[in-house]
Amino acid sequence: MDLSSLLPIPDLLQAKRLMAFAPHPDDNEVGAGATVARLRRQGCEVIYVIATKGDAGSDDPQLTADELVRLRQQEQQRALQILGDGPIVFWDYPDTLLKDHEKALQQDVLKVIREYQPDFVMAPDPWLPYEAHPDHRTLGHAVATGVIMAPFARAFGQSATPVPSPAIAFYGSAWPNTFIDVTETFDLKLAALAAHKSQFGPPLGPQLMMYLTLYAEENGQKIGVKRAEPFKVLTPHHLHFNAYTWHC
Ligand SMILES: [Zn+2]
Repeated sequence: MDLSSLLPIPDLLQAKRLMAFAPHPDDNEVGAGATVARLRRQGCEVIYVIATKGDAGSDDPQLTADELVRLRQQEQQRALQILGDGPIVFWDYPDTLLKDHEKALQQDVLKVIREYQPDFVMAPDPWLPYEAHPDHRTLGHAVATGVIMAPFARAFGQSATPVPSPAIAFYGSAWPNTFIDVTETFDLKLAALAAHKSQFGPPLGPQLMMYLTLYAEENGQKIGVKRAEPFKVLTPHHLHFNAYTWHC
């Protein structure tokens, strides 16, 4: 018997309630926007959780932090509307400093998973080699930990009603095991990215969109479609004491 048959990879396209975690407004669109749009089209509920305020995301010294935060929240709301809409939970952790708040973040991740009880969560892959942004590593780890701790009532000193662990789909993974055909919804991803005007003006925006389009075409070739988004999809059993996870 093959090990993979003991622990099959869940089908992301069967998700009924997806909670998509992002370190900053725009990360869900960059990593998974077209998949979010496809899931919304087929009736999956989508809840966004944006961990930081995004207050470091500007090179404009004239813009105050408060103005930038307000602007980026509006852009995030518009972007999710384009993808099919849903509630957004905005946390107020400081941009680039998420690591300093790891304990509180872990508590919040666990609480929000228990409150909404998603069957799937998404997060940036914290094991992406060469990932230099500390917020991406910190949030990815916190969400993976939240997945394995959800069924334990007293994890992290909480006293809560346990809930089943959701499956997790890491976006931006170097070792994807799932490719979602997004040929029909890729244009929505580009439109949602364009809604993040404060982040993706010229020249970066057009370059990023060209890169993401080529990346989607390359991933599409792996499953014989025009465009695909790649994910590393895992169960809680893959996320603890499992040397096999590296290969699956
Ligand atoms: Zn980010």
